[in-house]
Amino acid sequence: MLDFTKCSVEQLMEEKQLLEKKYADYVGQKLKLDMSRGKPASTQLDLNNDILSTLETYITEDGTDARNYGVLDGLSEAKKLFSELLNIAPANMIIGGNSSLNLMYDAMTRLFLFGTEGERPWCQLDQVKFLCPSPGYDRHFAICEDLGIEMITVPMHEDGPDMDYIESLVKEDASIKGIWCVPLYSNPQGICYSDEVVERLASMKTAAKDFRIFWDNAYGVHHIYDEVKLKDIFEAARAAGNENRVYYFFSTSKITFPGAGVALIASSLSNIAEIKKHMSIQTIGHDKLNQLRTVNYFKNAEGIRTHMKKLGNELRPKFEIVLNTLEKELAGTGLLSWTKPQGGYFVAVDTLPGCAKETVRLAKEAGVVLTGAGATFPYQNDPQDRNIRIAPTYPTVEELQKAMELFCVCVKLAGVNRLLIENQ
Ligand code: PMP
Repeated sequence: MLDFTKCSVEQLMEEKQLLEKKYADYVGQKLKLDMSRGKPASTQLDLNNDILSTLETYITEDGTDARNYGVLDGLSEAKKLFSELLNIAPANMIIGGNSSLNLMYDAMTRLFLFGTEGERPWCQLDQVKFLCPSPGYDRHFAICEDLGIEMITVPMHEDGPDMDYIESLVKEDASIKGIWCVPLYSNPQGICYSDEVVERLASMKTAAKDFRIFWDNAYGVHHIYDEVKLKDIFEAARAAGNENRVYYFFSTSKITFPGAGVALIASSLSNIAEIKKHMSIQTIGHDKLNQLRTVNYFKNAEGIRTHMKKLGNELRPKFEIVLNTLEKELAGTGLLSWTKPQGGYFVAVDTLPGCAKETVRLAKEAGVVLTGAGATFPYQNDPQDRNIRIAPTYPTVEELQKAMELFCVCVKLAGVNRLLIENQ
């Protein structure tokens, strides 16, 4: 494969002409595809349709009528299901509504309004800072922006965020109140935190007594290739005497139906009691019928694991299209590097510095909408303008193949143009 970074200006000019022709062909095809969000395809959603008709009874195990108000923290059968799946004791969890992001936002606003550990509410402080391993999930960063939390970008390594950097910051600065983590198959890179990273996060010394880890395990059971095991952060935090440090989030949004699944928050017993106190003012209870539907449909954790294998089979060909097309078109060109996730929902790529926005723009002009460049960084600001999130789940395999081929042309065209500017 031609290494574009080693080409002469003449060679680059030649390539540019060829690429512009190819690009014009794609524009002529009037593609219309949205790959901006990690949404499942309707064929993937169809795998779950039986959940809509599984409600055999609305009376719960303990005789509660699920049609009526009550049971703030969730049905015990729902807790049992997720307890078995995630290895978290039922007493340490609250089953919420349809969205884990909502639980995260609420957890953050409670800290702002009421504080915790006897410390001042965060709204009374001059400055609240959060660590944001990046590239990361744009909606986490949006919560910080909404509440005026200063975000500190933390580089990601192959085994999780840069722990030396994190430890050096949190031990000195009491205004750093927490960190966002997607510990398994992270959004967008598909990175899995190593045991050492989990251990260090759980045990590190923090100047803030009320430091919180927002442990968003959204892709905790989303294995596509080999299953990666995640170290139990609660166990590590308990052993280090920091058991209040962790808020753990999970949902079935990417298991059954996004926005119509069941979400949960798990934490230490004292944190759970604190959350329930405020939650009892906020709501009389969440949707128990949906909890029952979910339990009836899956029966037990094994039911979810079997379902996730089917889902993996559905997603694997799409990941393969992405990875094979990148390999075929861009390996050795010097224009792009990318991650090879073992699971989750995304693949992340890095262009040459200064080329991500232009690549996304070119794709959009040709009818393929990608996640906005920069979205994976705090303040939508990718300092090197390199990172792009590829979300392969929504299109059909045929559409995805075409979109990826166009994407590669856009990467090359943006890269060649950048190299020509630099060589001027
Ligand atoms: N966390 C991460 C890392 C996600 O990728 C998503 C979905 N895109 C969510 C949370 C949202 O989950 P929910 O639907 O449960 O709010």
